[in-house]
Amino acid sequence: MHVIASISQSALTHNLSVVKQLTSGAKVVSMIKANAYGHHLDCIHPLIDGSDRLAVSELSEAEKLRAITQRPILLLSGVYSESELQRAISLDCHIVVHHTSQIAIINNTQQVVNVWLKIDTGMHRLGLSASEYKECLSLFETNPLVEIACVMSHFACADEIDHPMNKTQLKLFKELTTKTNNRSMANSAAILSQAETTFDFVRPGIMLYGASPFNTPNNQLKPVMTLSAPILSIKTLQAGESVGYGATWIADKDTTLAVIGIGYGDGYPRHAKNGTPVLINGILCPLVGRVSMDLICVDISSTKASIGDNAVLWGDEKLRVEVVANNSDTISYELLTGLSNRVSFISAP
Ligand SMILES: *Cc1c(COP(=O)(O)O)cnc(C)c1O
Repeated sequence: MHVIASISQSALTHNLSVVKQLTSGAKVVSMIKANAYGHHLDCIHPLIDGSDRLAVSELSEAEKLRAITQRPILLLSGVYSESELQRAISLDCHIVVHHTSQIAIINNTQQVVNVWLKIDTGMHRLGLSASEYKECLSLFETNPLVEIACVMSHFACADEIDHPMNKTQLKLFKELTTKTNNRSMANSAAILSQAETTFDFVRPGIMLYGASPFNTPNNQLKPVMTLSAPILSIKTLQAGESVGYGATWIADKDTTLAVIGIGYGDGYPRHAKNGTPVLINGILCPLVGRVSMDLICVDISSTKASIGDNAVLWGDEKLRVEVVANNSDTISYELLTGLSNRVSFISAP
């Protein structure tokens, strides 16, 4: 009896088709960094096969991905040395250039290299400034070995639809790329809310995995990961008795408790508040007491359950990961990428 993350292949296919409907004509660069947002590369074949390109953040991820597919790869961090450039070329990656220190490494290449120039339009994390971008462009345009495959930028506030930075970033990006054929700006939030950011390549991440980049769930998307764990014990607490470390939760009436075999050691958030819903036999039941390393306790007074029944922690249409994230002061991205290696991953239809 242990924790299982079941990865729905049909939900992946569905969510990818939602991206394609919303951005018709654009090519899809699926973000599968961080082991496919924690869903495991081995379990996401519909994405690998159905996307135009797959993006990873670092070379070690590109190596793992290349071992299972010949699909085109985009390396988001770019390269930092001649030997990293060699590795990236031998893995047949397109390579992002986001810092001036990477320009000479690329420009000295002995083989053809495809680059994506990343402009910083206001996020101020990775990216070339407007003037650095212009210098880099003129250098690369005269180098027959360097192909500029695309120019990209990234939104800082796309999940806040009315944030003024969205317009400023888009305006600057358009000004700098009027003569550019292949452009890419949109992440999931922009795909879902700003059609004018589609351009030639879109870069969906979280929405492919069925979670919304906004605070509220999006019913157009289907949850991909269902996280479940077994009920290990059931007991009745008398009114006035407490449960768990710190004895922080006290029953105000006689209460039936299910003790479930999952905890922060598996990646269930320790900060989940009392009342965070857990789905047991189709009924949402409240978490009570502190989350331990291996166990949580749930008030099942409102449903019938037996030892061995599976509780769903997230990933059902009735209990989306966003709800658990909101109850734990975090975001779905962190919960999905945070499962530990004690969890078994399986591909489900
Ligand atoms: C991760 C990432 C994305 C995808 O973001 P989501 O919010 O998950 O859609 C897009 N672009 C870049 C550069 C990224 O690093």
